[in-house]
Amino acid sequence: MAEYRRRKTGSDTWHWCRNCHLDPKSDYDTRDKRPDYDLCNHCKAKEKNNDCRT
Ligand SMILES: [Zn+2]
Repeated sequence: MAEYRRRKTGSDTWHWCRNCHLDPKSDYDTRDKRPDYDLCNHCKAKEKNNDCRT
């Protein structure tokens, strides 16, 4: 199952593709369930292209 990550500082979107260039590497919150909003557009695009590494 994908892990959703969001940076703690500042307003950011949720990332679940580890190959997303905006995926936070430290100081982030995590959750297992897909959030209803604030999803990363880059992660969405990767998922659509089957290029999302979770
Ligand atoms: Zn992302």
